[in-house]
Amino acid sequence: MIPTSGSYRLANARVHRSLTPGLIEPFDVDGFALAELAVADGKIASIVAHAESKAQSDAIDLAGRIVLPCFVDCHTHIDKGHIWPRKPNPDGTFMGALNATGADRAARWSAEDVARRMDFSLRSAYAHGTKAMRTHLDSVPPQEEISWPVFETMRERWRGRIDLQAACLLGIEGVRDKAWFERLAKRVAAAKGVLGVVTYMVPDLEELLDQVFAQAIEHGLDLDFHADETDDIAAISLKKIAEASLWNGFEGNILVGHCCSLSRQPDLEVLDTLDKVAKARLAVVSLPMCNLYLQDRRSNGTTPRWRGVTLLHEMKARGIKVAVASDNTRDPFYAYGDLDMLEVYRMATRILHFDHPVGDWPKAVAATPAEVMRLDGAGTLAVGGSADFIVFRGRSWTELLSRPESDRIVVRDGRAIERQLPDYAELDELMV
Ligand SMILES: [Zn+2]
Repeated sequence: MIPTSGSYRLANARVHRSLTPGLIEPFDVDGFALAELAVADGKIASIVAHAESKAQSDAIDLAGRIVLPCFVDCHTHIDKGHIWPRKPNPDGTFMGALNATGADRAARWSAEDVARRMDFSLRSAYAHGTKAMRTHLDSVPPQEEISWPVFETMRERWRGRIDLQAACLLGIEGVRDKAWFERLAKRVAAAKGVLGVVTYMVPDLEELLDQVFAQAIEHGLDLDFHADETDDIAAISLKKIAEASLWNGFEGNILVGHCCSLSRQPDLEVLDTLDKVAKARLAVVSLPMCNLYLQDRRSNGTTPRWRGVTLLHEMKARGIKVAVASDNTRDPFYAYGDLDMLEVYRMATRILHFDHPVGDWPKAVAATPAEVMRLDGAGTLAVGGSADFIVFRGRSWTELLSRPESDRIVVRDGRAIERQLPDYAELDELMV
């Protein structure tokens, strides 16, 4: 249906208001409008509301199919991905995940093992229509010396297909070893990475956060935190991060993931935290599938009663940038997943109620994470931008989100790509 090269026009493409910034058109109640997209030399040459466009007999008629920009996945762990067959989570809990992953990392994460699983993940994401991704890299010694060079090689190999970023990952207590943490920050800076830590309530949290901010400022790094991935209402590290950002005068981008405990806290506490998060210009990413899997996991044969996700609606209403992302795939933190951002959006719609109205929620898997990751123009359909988009079969939200859309067409630089998902059997020899 989509030519493999040259210039062409797509008529009757259904585009969404939130992801098509240049189009001024009366959109329908779901935020959609019909448009004609012209593609030339790998770029979007024009986007014209359909009613205005002249009927051109050589245009390809999409018959109202939805066209979205390629996805941006701002929080993943492709260094952990796909270890499930050799290291499952014994009980589905967060501690079970932490312990299983730590043991597997120590025993098995050679450069070759990490590289092959990363490549598998990237091929899946690419086939599903993702064009940019941030992964966290477990960076506790000696893994940082193995995984960062692998990441640098992988980023080069995938340049032009997936724009890959990395953030280091370690528990906040690792920052206490000042000399080591400073070396790590230098290593991250050398790789043009992002400085990341996992925050939880330790007595010296404020001092440790100051050290994290000091290193980020020293090396000109953006920050990426895992915060409060727990139902414990005493977990308020999101607020501590916002406060630390304000008193350190930090000017880079900060992305904070999870923030699960926030939705369990009393309203006054929540309001105070959200005020500070907005003032400090933090962005928040929710990981709905992983949160649903790990949070409220019960061992006594009772049923979970909490969805696990944070307060995205309240955040967005205050102007806080919000995104959703994949997080883990087929590892002890999440037994499932395939880095398919349509699946993430579908699940987020159900878990977080991204509907009635849909509003501008589609930005959460495209334009907003692109801004947080400083990817100019990604995550939108814009004239002059790369012709990187996905043509779905669905013509409405209910059609789009009810089927897997396994036959979606992914267009990169104006050309439909081969969408070959890697075979799980490829990983078999790594799993023995
Ligand atoms: Zn994560």
